[in-house]
Parts: sequence; structure tokens; C-alpha cells
Amino acid sequence: MPKYELVLFKNMAQSGYTGSFTDYKKTGGYTAFEKVLKEGSPANIIDEVKKSGLRGRGGAGFPTGLKWSFIPKDHVGPRYLCCNADESEPGTYKDRQLMERDPHQMLEGMAICCYAIGAATAYIYIRGEFDLGAEILEDAIAEAYKAKVIGKDIFGSGFSLDIFVHRGAGAYICGEETALLESIEGKRGKPRIKPPFPAIHGLYQEPTVINNVETLANVPHIINRGAEWFASIGIGKSTGTRIFGVSGQVNRPGNYEVPMGVTVREMIYDIAGGIRGNKKLKAFIPGGASAPMMKPEHLDTPLDFESIKEAGSMLGSGAITVMDEDTCIVWAAMNLMEFFHHESCGQCTPCREGSGWVLQILRRIEQGHGREGDVDQLLDLCGRIEGKTVCAFGEAEIGPIVSSIKHFRAEFEQHISEKGCPFHPNAALSMAH
Ligand code: SF4
Repeated sequence: MPKYELVLFKNMAQSGYTGSFTDYKKTGGYTAFEKVLKEGSPANIIDEVKKSGLRGRGGAGFPTGLKWSFIPKDHVGPRYLCCNADESEPGTYKDRQLMERDPHQMLEGMAICCYAIGAATAYIYIRGEFDLGAEILEDAIAEAYKAKVIGKDIFGSGFSLDIFVHRGAGAYICGEETALLESIEGKRGKPRIKPPFPAIHGLYQEPTVINNVETLANVPHIINRGAEWFASIGIGKSTGTRIFGVSGQVNRPGNYEVPMGVTVREMIYDIAGGIRGNKKLKAFIPGGASAPMMKPEHLDTPLDFESIKEAGSMLGSGAITVMDEDTCIVWAAMNLMEFFHHESCGQCTPCREGSGWVLQILRRIEQGHGREGDVDQLLDLCGRIEGKTVCAFGEAEIGPIVSSIKHFRAEFEQHISEKGCPFHPNAALSMAH
């Protein structure tokens, strides 16, 4: 297995590292924050993050420094940072590890961001099911207050910061940034129409930055080791390392931190140990459930934002789901649509109703009741969702369906012509309930 320099996982790879404030401090923790408070101007910090090329690790890959620079400098009134810890994309579990095993790394990144954008209040919006993570973060925040690295007049700089943990209630859509804001405000988590964007009208209608856990965890390292160092890792416009969560039919599923740009082949075969039982690879999803499926012919694609996009998918949340030759693609598409239909917030008709209709057709194909024309009907329905919804969830939910038909149309047709699933002969019975 190839060895790469760890950045975000470096501390937790050391034996005996507990993630406590004391352990984090021993590894040089909070020196970056102290440095920016004593020497750095907010504008210089934003410039440094811009120069590093850091892009959001939550899914969209938007440049982080640029996002911070959108906060109006002359704004009178509060500004906010919301850390998006609502990690719910199927197959994605990297932020959970970062929060549970090294919470201060992310807290330090949040503190630096708050100083750079002039925010005195930050929220961590954490997925409701992450009980352990929420407790660990609450303890870490209490340690940070006690050590006076957050709170009033930090390091005698005059800068004060409060950080709060806000637990979600289990809705996937609250990971969408504006739904997250609605949820913190105590409302139902429904995405807002954009514009206006959160940088102008965000939390409580005040300027707000929303960044993912992994994105913020990178910030102390950029301040300590410099933008050039960070930009020297990775490939092209995808700089730094990335944590990829590999799941599915591989020998060694898990989270792996590697430089951006390693190929899918290296990730699946060298790092995750290859396909279980020496089976052949049939398909993989490179960036979480909403990323279009890819085929073995894409194995040599580098894992970076641009290369994966050029190959027809997206890097998304960095969750790689591997499917072997025995996987039924219709079943996989149906399984993904079950999730998306369940999680639609219901605000717009094409998403709320369309996802249900797509699911019904997929179910009947899988159960052996598919009709001639169903595959085209699916594509037609997906086309009526795409671009016609309030938030990007619409595109996300059709990605796996359209791509699975594009790459495996013959398998859908086979289900229809043979009146059953060649992989699950008893699908109709097993799905009867
Ligand atoms: Fe809600 Fe779906 Fe519309 Fe997004 S696309 S606002 S999830 S109904």
C-alpha cells in the first residue's frame, strides 16, 4: 500500500493520541490561531487561504478563500460562521472521524476563519445521529474555553469568539447550506431560493460563511506551513490532500487521506485492497450517492475536481462506493432513489413527486413488472426534474439514475424483457413488504 504524507490524519495516526486539548497542544495546536491574532490581518489570512487553492470538501468544491472574501467588509452588525457537520451523504463518513478523533483541529480552523471574516459567533451544525461526535465537540469546546483559546479577548487581542454545537434532527436536506440556516433559526429545514446568497443574507439575514468540517480542518495547516506548501500537494486546481471514504465491495473499506490526483485504480486496488473475492469491478460512484456512476474504463481517472468532472461525474463528498460484477445496477439505482425520495424536503413538485414516480418505475422493473418504454420514461421524468427545482437536490437525485441507464441500459432492458432480475430472482417476493 503506498504511503503518503498525512496532514489531517497525522495526529490521530500517532499511538496514544486522544484528541484532547492537551494532546492537540503538544502537536503545535492553536499556534496558527495565536499567530494570526498576533501578526496577521484578516485580509492577509483570506489572501493566504485563496493562494493555497483550498476548495470546499463538502461537495461543491467552491474556493474557500473566495467564499470568505464575499463577506461585506463594511457590514455593520453580526456575521456568522456555520460549520456544516451534517454529514449524511450515503457512503460518506470522513467528517465524523475528524470530529470524533481530532476535534480541536476543526475548532482551530473555525477560530481562524471567524477572525478573518469578523465573526464573533460560530455554530457547528451536526447531524442528529452523531451523538458521540456532538458530545466530543461539546467537551472540546469546554476545554477550549477553559484554555482561553475561545471566549473573551483571546490572547489579549481584543477578539472574542463563542462556538455553539447545534444538533440536527436527521434530515439529509439540512446539509444544503440554506436549509441548514433555516434549521438553526428553528424553522423547518427547507432550502432557500438563491440569490441572495448566505454571504450577504445568511443566518438571521446576516452575512454568513458556511464551510464543511474537512475544509476548516485544513486551515491551521495552511497558516502554519504556508499557502505554497499546501498548493504543492495535489494536482492542478485541486490542491491539498483529500479524505476519501471507500465503501462497498472492497477488501479494506475505510477513510484514506491521500493527495488529490491519485487515480481511482490506486484508490480501489492499492489502497483499499481490491475487490472482495477477486471479483471484477462493475461500477463505482466517485463522490457520494449523488455523483453519477462510472465504469471500469474510468479507473485511471485522477481523483481531482476537474478530472472527475471531465469524465462525467463529480468528486462531491469524496465517498467512493464500489460495486462488483454481481451487483444489480437496477437494484442499486432503486436503492439510491429510495433514499432520495425519502429525503426530498417536499418544497418543489418536480423533486417531491418526480422522485416518487421514478422510484415506482424502478421498483416495478426490479420486481419483473417493467413495461416496454419504461427506460425512456425514466429518462423523461429525470429531464423534468433537472434544473427545475429550488436546490441542487433535484440534480443530485437524478445523477445516479441517468448515469446508470447511460452505462447499463442493456441491463434495464434485460429486466423488462426477461420479466425479472437476473441477480435477484426473488426480488418481487423480497420487496413485497
Ligand atoms: Fe426540497 Fe427537493 Fe426542492 Fe430541494 S429540490 S427544495 S430537496 S423539494
